[in-house]
Amino acid sequence: MQYASTRGHAAAQNFSEILLGGLAPDGGLYLPTSYPQVSGAELDAWRGLSYAGLAFEVLKKFATDIPAEDLRAIVEKTYTADVYRNARLGEDAAQITPLRVLEDKDGRKLILQALSNGPTLAFKDMAMQLLGNLFEYALAKKQAELNIFGATSGDTGSAAEYAMRGKKGIRVFMLSPHKKMSAFQTAQMFSLQDPNIFNIAVEGVFDDCQDMVKAVSNDLAYKERQKIGTVNSINWARVVAQVVYYFRGYLSATTSNAQKVSFTVPSGNFGNICAGHIARMMGLPIDKLVVATNENDVLDEFFRTGVYRVRKSAETWHTTSPSMDISKASNFERFIYDLLDGDAARVKALFGKVETVGGFDLSGQPGSDGDEFKKVARFGFQSGKSVHADRLNTIRQVEKNYGITIDTHTADGIKVALEHIETGVPMIVLETALPAKFNETIREALGRDAERPAGFENIEALPQRFEVMTADVEKMKAYIAANTGL
Ligand SMILES: *Cc1c(COP(=O)(O)O)cnc(C)c1O
Repeated sequence: MQYASTRGHAAAQNFSEILLGGLAPDGGLYLPTSYPQVSGAELDAWRGLSYAGLAFEVLKKFATDIPAEDLRAIVEKTYTADVYRNARLGEDAAQITPLRVLEDKDGRKLILQALSNGPTLAFKDMAMQLLGNLFEYALAKKQAELNIFGATSGDTGSAAEYAMRGKKGIRVFMLSPHKKMSAFQTAQMFSLQDPNIFNIAVEGVFDDCQDMVKAVSNDLAYKERQKIGTVNSINWARVVAQVVYYFRGYLSATTSNAQKVSFTVPSGNFGNICAGHIARMMGLPIDKLVVATNENDVLDEFFRTGVYRVRKSAETWHTTSPSMDISKASNFERFIYDLLDGDAARVKALFGKVETVGGFDLSGQPGSDGDEFKKVARFGFQSGKSVHADRLNTIRQVEKNYGITIDTHTADGIKVALEHIETGVPMIVLETALPAKFNETIREALGRDAERPAGFENIEALPQRFEVMTADVEKMKAYIAANTGL
């Protein structure tokens, strides 16, 4: 299996080559030159597999350059009941992403698929845990080292640290805005004592952290010398790892391949639902893929109108589902490439317009950039939006009707799912975090604290290990160099 850039850069690469990189040299994103197909017979054979067994079958189709026995060992180490131990009462941790039927009456079936039972209680663990093991494997093969440098306002940074802690050949330098994360998020990251994890609390806001990451990344000589890499949401291996749970959800919710299911996905950077799109392109019988956004509705706007209009920082709201507070969906280019039938020159032109004029228009209206919006339905996409009042209401209703506490992002998903659910087609909502992570809003909605999984009870009281630093790029560079010894 070979990979090429959405903007046409010709050099085909294999899975291992793109694993450690980010964007393609032309600024595009990597995609396989064709999607591997899954036959009905294969799907049948996969019904009885464990999560790790299924992950092996799916990943094998994409990572053709990794020897099968190595790949199997990697997935078996990753998807264990011990790693995904935060399953809630009534869930079986061994299923890794257990399903819970919330409602099944009058042909209407609403199902929650738990993706947030991993170490940091959010769905990012599903892919990041695999990435940690893949990185360790690839680096050992090349006898190489990697220093991951990133900025976080919460979920991604902690998922990366928990995936990379103790891994040979890898260090993580993670910037976060000093005293701006929730006490829970701060404790989760800063209580790690592993010598290969470096938490740097920057005196500033998240944008200051991100600016420092950009400044360091733009110094190519430094980046090369210090072997700096990233693990952001465009990483292809992260997307592929997420494809697996769409197969798991489908196979667990159906008994025959003649049945279809729909998925609703709380979305921000379009990484999670992009994996659903790929599963559908591989032949998984998915009916609808419903994009759920919060007040930051860039994606909902596109799927309603065909206009993609990225937001400026001042128009990006801080909401109570903060992991979806994005102004620009970094994986969206992968879908647009498919929507345009792989016309890389047009993809390049359209995303060039995103940089220069802030968006493009495929509505087919006079003066627009094309009329491909009319083809969106063929890919199963629909969308909807949920705001703070909806979240509170949904959290209360789900608690009352089904006796389960959901987090704010999942609440956005359920609100939108209920607007799109159809008789006879099970609707699976992806649960992207556990409520303990966003306790402030649970208190507001329910007047009590969210329950915490075992082991997290006193996390704020654990000793913390971090460095406070001013937003000074030179100081940052010196700090990394001193700790890598490179
Ligand atoms: C990252 C995240 C999302 C959004 O996922 P995308 O892949 O960016 O669309 C939704 N919910 C939670 C809890 C997250 O951490």
